[in-house]
Amino acid sequence: MIGAGHAGLAASRFLTDRSIDHVVLERGDVANSWRRERWDSLRLLTPNWQSRLPGLAYDGPEPDGYMSAGEVAALIDRFARVANAPVRTQTAVTSVRPAADRYDVTTSAGGFRCRCVLLASGACNVASVPGVSAGVPPSIAQFTPFDYRNPDRLPEGGVLVVGGSATGVQLAAEIHQSGRPVTLSVGEHVRLPRTYRGRDVLWWMDASGLWNQRYDEIDDLTRARRLPSPQLVGTPQRSTLDLNALTAMGVALVGRLATIRDGRALFSGGLRNVFALADLKMERLLATFDEWARATGRDTDVAAPERFEPTRVPAASPLQLDLRAGAIRSIVWATGFHPDYGWLDVPVLDEKGQLRHDGGVVDAPGLYALGLPVLRRRKSTFIHGIEDDARDVIDHLAGYLAGESALASRA
Ligand SMILES: Cc1cc2nc3c(=O)[nH]c(=O)nc-3n(C[C@H](O)[C@H](O)[C@H](O)COP(=O)(O)OP(=O)(O)OC[C@H]3O[C@@H](n4cnc5c(N)ncnc54)[C@H](O)[C@@H]3O)c2cc1C
Repeated sequence: MIGAGHAGLAASRFLTDRSIDHVVLERGDVANSWRRERWDSLRLLTPNWQSRLPGLAYDGPEPDGYMSAGEVAALIDRFARVANAPVRTQTAVTSVRPAADRYDVTTSAGGFRCRCVLLASGACNVASVPGVSAGVPPSIAQFTPFDYRNPDRLPEGGVLVVGGSATGVQLAAEIHQSGRPVTLSVGEHVRLPRTYRGRDVLWWMDASGLWNQRYDEIDDLTRARRLPSPQLVGTPQRSTLDLNALTAMGVALVGRLATIRDGRALFSGGLRNVFALADLKMERLLATFDEWARATGRDTDVAAPERFEPTRVPAASPLQLDLRAGAIRSIVWATGFHPDYGWLDVPVLDEKGQLRHDGGVVDAPGLYALGLPVLRRRKSTFIHGIEDDARDVIDHLAGYLAGESALASRA
């Protein structure tokens, strides 16, 4: 097993239940990504009651609160102890190579030969920064969510945040509150209210069964796997952080960053259409929730249906910004993340560098994966989503090992 985040530890728990001998190799400490790769103010956007792991439900005093990164690390630490996971920390996997019917795994602390390898090394190892960043003038400081910690690390002056998903809207709000003028470049995005009809909007995703939808029931799986994270933030006030909230604060909105030419950032027009599409999709989703509540007799458990003001289109939104003019001093690339498989010497990546797999069963015998977007269900990358996925994937893995053993005994 590679990776001691919640995914690797959940898989370990199911392997232990089946008495399958294994080891969890972790390059840092347990919950490394929550300790090293999150900005200071980050809180989960899923409520605490939802942070359930196999055999470990949330039992703290604030079920409706949102954990800080430190609290998530503590939760995963506790889970590692509850699961009694055989973790080897400070053990970086540097290569996984097929060798006859086994895999040779090389690490910073020695080698292993194993019949199966499970990749639980995370979906968000590297910040995805578009190639146009090469055109940013050297006078501008550039940050990704991995090197951004808090606004104090940024130079004084204006900030361009690129990306209007959860990370982008959260960082835009925080940086604006530090007194720096913020421009947010927004492309296609997912708008959600924090609460709907008196319940956390993620309660609706969970209760209505939408998050449980299986990967093989989704029409456009490629698109579902690429869907950006919703514009949400976890605060004690349970406030909504959509584009209207950012505009009200004073954040300037511009279109999608198309390119940077001669020191000028050029943005797409058509914000009205982009906003209308996000509003429409949100309305459709909320209508689905209403329909579910009606059909299941839950209508009286929740408040009356709500509708939300359409996203306000700025009266004037510049189509370009001269990055050499001095108004923008830094750029934060909130443009997503991707996995790092630089150490995987098995030909299982497609032309886009994505792992070829069917619900976590990778396109090479004995190789498995967990923790990737919509791996087996819409909820796959979320903490509460791992239990069902890990159970299924370990079921398959156990079947594979049993089949192999049967073959060996017949030989
Ligand atoms: C900014 C952000 C916010 C998120 N917010 C939420 C949220 O609100 N709610 C929610 O449920 N989920 C959230 N997630 C999604 C999800 O919970 C995380 O991505 C989670 O960290 C995934 O768990 P994992 O175990 O799959 O991967 P990780 O936690 O990334 O664990 C992978 C582990 O593998 C290790 N590793 C990687 N490569 C190697 C190697 N070569 N050798 C050895 N070890 C290696 C890493 O050090 C790491 O410890 C968020 C993710 C991000 C990035």
